[in-house]
Amino acid sequence: MADAPRMKPWIDAIHPYVPGRSTGAGGRPLVKLSANENPFGCSPLARAALADGNAQGNPALYPDPDARALREGIARLHGIDLARIVCGTGSGELLHCAVQAFAGQGDEVLFPEFSFSLYPLLAHKVGATPVLAPMADYRADVDAMLARITPRTRVILLDNPNNPCGSYLGADEIARLIEQVPADVLLVIDQAYGEYLAPAEDDGALAACSGRGNLLVMRTFSKAYGLAAERIGWATGAPPLIDALNRLRGAFNVSASGQRAALAALADQAFVARSRAETAAARTALVDTLAALGNYGLRTVPSGANFVLVLFEGSLGAADAHAALEEGGYAVRHLPGQGLPHALRITIGTREQMGEIGRILSDAAIRAG
Ligand code: PMP
Repeated sequence: MADAPRMKPWIDAIHPYVPGRSTGAGGRPLVKLSANENPFGCSPLARAALADGNAQGNPALYPDPDARALREGIARLHGIDLARIVCGTGSGELLHCAVQAFAGQGDEVLFPEFSFSLYPLLAHKVGATPVLAPMADYRADVDAMLARITPRTRVILLDNPNNPCGSYLGADEIARLIEQVPADVLLVIDQAYGEYLAPAEDDGALAACSGRGNLLVMRTFSKAYGLAAERIGWATGAPPLIDALNRLRGAFNVSASGQRAALAALADQAFVARSRAETAAARTALVDTLAALGNYGLRTVPSGANFVLVLFEGSLGAADAHAALEEGGYAVRHLPGQGLPHALRITIGTREQMGEIGRILSDAAIRAG
């Protein structure tokens, strides 16, 4: 019998991406607080653009391969030169392209020890070695990252705010990182949750982009804009970096409906501001409830994103808390595979949902003693 096709060893090393769950035992539907989606949906303008496009658009035609109108909208809103923007099938596609373009076998891809679970996969995909920089109490540590740069480091990935921790670095720390990363190492600041930070908390990376040849900043419409189903992200950086991403991305990577919806969504910054404010209020309510459970070993990591990492350092373990939440109808993320067996990442839903989560965790903590 002929041999079966053999996967390349570096592809064999990949742990497939694990998406957030929305069902429990026996397929029972759960409230999905496991994928950092927006519980407030998207802007009515985006919804109208989707409906309108479905009625009038011609699905037989390919979308604009350059997403020009959408890129013009992004350029206007953020004050960026059009030539420095590329759109992707989510920012996920652009992360793939960035690592693929600049790292390969024998190279190192560096990121904080707890980061977006896609990052190690990206390194393995190109045969590079993922290198983890220790964090300081679940927050990225600029000095620890700089200390781990070697002659083999080709790409540094930093999600700010960080997923799954929710923690974030301020403008001073980001400026120091940008300043000290060697010019021949690509630094990607992944701002998937950037819209959830108050304007005063902006990390300055977008503004820094125009002056650096080795900095890419990425954003997505999947989170605060509430368009995850449409798969739209974008990146900005120096033209040679954008050129590299353009070579590798899919030719028609953003659907026609996605381009229309995202452009319409950009025009409704009030929706984004409401998402941010509602999320912050519900997050604060949950964090305050859990703060009262400090004696039971529960602790939350300060978050600037639409989720919070809860640490279980007492009698109630994260696995039991996860089970209690599932029993109560909620799917959240338990992350033992990411080195966080003692933590749950809970997406911020509505205030009512956060009230219920708080009650379920309080009861479980008291029961565990
Ligand atoms: N970066 C981070 C930190 C994320 O958490 C996510 C989504 N979970 C992404 C990028 C990718 O999002 P998308 O591909 O939907 O734009």
